[in-house]
Parts: sequence; structure tokens; C-alpha cells
Amino acid sequence: MKNYKKELTFNTPARLAFINITTDVKQALSESGIKEGLCLVNAMHITASVFINDDESGLHSDFEKWLEKLAPHLPVSQYAHNAGEDNGDAHLKRQVMGREVVVAVSDGKLDFGPWEQIFYGEFDGRRDKRVLIKIIGE
Ligand code: ZN
Repeated sequence: MKNYKKELTFNTPARLAFINITTDVKQALSESGIKEGLCLVNAMHITASVFINDDESGLHSDFEKWLEKLAPHLPVSQYAHNAGEDNGDAHLKRQVMGREVVVAVSDGKLDFGPWEQIFYGEFDGRRDKRVLIKIIGE
């Protein structure tokens, strides 16, 4: 069995951002040479997510509004976590949007359903944060 590992780094200018990383993951799969297997993609920080959904700007705006209703950033004093920091909301947003995705690799390609794309979700940006790609198979 072959395995391949790669890290991506993001530093978003805004606190919250969604970035389509599908091309980066396809590039990693191409570098791996793996044709049949599994591809794991996970955020390496507890205030960021990796998730699969549609690359549609209205949906991303809806995600942002929905997450802000569930866990508003302000006032920061509403979160017990915010003793000495201000990212309590970002931990909750990450929990809702998930840590990782696993995509089947078939015939050398990411075996997506219709419209599926992979996104990095940032909820406490403005610093370097990493995403891990691990691909195993033959
Ligand atoms: Zn924190």
C-alpha cells in the first residue's frame, strides 16, 4: 500500500472565510500516484473546518449568517472559553462544520457526488493555519 502526506497553509485576512481547496487536493492526489484508495483532508486547528458542499456564493453567505446566529462572535464576554482569548465562537462554529472529510479515490480521481467540492472553513483567521492531506491506497 502506498501513502502520501501533504500540508497546506492558509492565512486569511478576515476572521471568517471559506476557501475552495478542491484543486489543491486534486494536485496532491496527482502527486501521490495513487489510483484506488482513500483521501483524508482535515483541519489541524480547533477553530477551522474542512467540509464538502456546493461552490455557490449564496450558500456560503447563508452558512456565514447561520453560523453567526448559532454562535455570534460578539459579545465575546458571552463565552466561558473567552478568559484571556476571544475565539469561543470559532470553536463552536468549527464543531458544527466538522473537522475532516474522507473522499474515495477511484481510477485516480476524487470520487465526488454531483456538485461536491472541498472547502477550508476558517473561523479565527489572520494567522497561519494548516490543513493535512493524507492519501492511502494502491
Ligand atoms: Zn480558543
